[in-house]
Amino acid sequence: MEALIDTVLLKVASRCNIDCTYCYVYHMGDDNWSRMGKFMSPETIEATAQELKKVADLQGKPFSVVLHGGEPFLLGAQRLNYLLATLRNSLTQDFTISIQTNGVLISNEILDICSFHRASVAVSIDGPKEVHDQWRVDHAGGGTFEAVIKGYEILKSHPDHLFLNAGLLAVIDPFSDPGEVYRFFKSLDAPSVDFLYRDGNHDRLPFGKKALYSTEYGSWMSELLKIYLADHNPLPIRVLDDMLKVLLGGMVSKEGLGVTDFGILIIDTDGSLTKNDTLKSAFNGADQFERRVNITDRNLFDFVSSPAFTAYREMQRPSNEKCLRCPYLDLCGGGMILHRWKKETEFNNISVYCADQMLLVDEMKSALEKIYGNVA
Ligand code: SF4
Repeated sequence: MEALIDTVLLKVASRCNIDCTYCYVYHMGDDNWSRMGKFMSPETIEATAQELKKVADLQGKPFSVVLHGGEPFLLGAQRLNYLLATLRNSLTQDFTISIQTNGVLISNEILDICSFHRASVAVSIDGPKEVHDQWRVDHAGGGTFEAVIKGYEILKSHPDHLFLNAGLLAVIDPFSDPGEVYRFFKSLDAPSVDFLYRDGNHDRLPFGKKALYSTEYGSWMSELLKIYLADHNPLPIRVLDDMLKVLLGGMVSKEGLGVTDFGILIIDTDGSLTKNDTLKSAFNGADQFERRVNITDRNLFDFVSSPAFTAYREMQRPSNEKCLRCPYLDLCGGGMILHRWKKETEFNNISVYCADQMLLVDEMKSALEKIYGNVA
């Protein structure tokens, strides 16, 4: 059987201890979080673990589980231990469990629990202090850089850091200096870093983009690519590695690139099953299925086999004529769904990052051609 689920995002805490200005959860028009309890209840956690096990047994393939929020470490040691123990009771170590955190609440006690249950930790940092502190601020508007670095240092010095440290995640500031950002991440001695484009769509252009066909992000990434390829001991960058892999005939590992569909299931803090939560940035409730289903209804397998889930999965495939005829489609895949949104034509559009992607792919191809000759 084809895998129904590749990734499960568990929104284990609905609130956050910091207040990033660009956050799609709290600052992009959706307010569902405010009607939820702060944490997943024990009943929801039990149902999640048992229902995931049933799907895993039936699909016969493991999937990744990512604890997300809000901020997952707001759970505190006791709730986190209960949650991870319950998940691990159902899901063997063939299933990766990772935690995406803003890093501020990392402590040795928390890391010992993660280590015990084999859950790795990825930290969000946007770059050096002057870049990071512009966006990743606390509820009083102050920068969080020092607190995050302190948390990351605790992670790096944990006895099990080789397993625990799952790398860094950065949202691109197109006005920052890619060389400076790259050197900063290298100085942190991280195992890898991933870069994300800002949320945005045709009605609300991403921060720093002057027009649909301007290439601020493509230029930034192309500069990063040059620095990366010139480094004899490079810091692995997931998005660049994935794109290079596809150009050389391989497969991507994550949604938003290439033409592979990924089954991404979101279980919200109250147990409701939703579409990819990044869709919240399009309009209020864009991540909701028409028929509300909760994990405690105990019919997850039926749900992920249903036409509604299949249709959601197929939303990842671009439908716009321009994308379907595009020579860059195999690599770009039409971008992330949220980046295609426009009120009149809904998701039937090119990505708002189309020109950026074309520029980056061209740069990548010419760099590879210098090494390998003609790249298709
Ligand atoms: S978004 Fe642009 S580059 Fe990507 S597939 Fe569509 S037309 Fe091609």
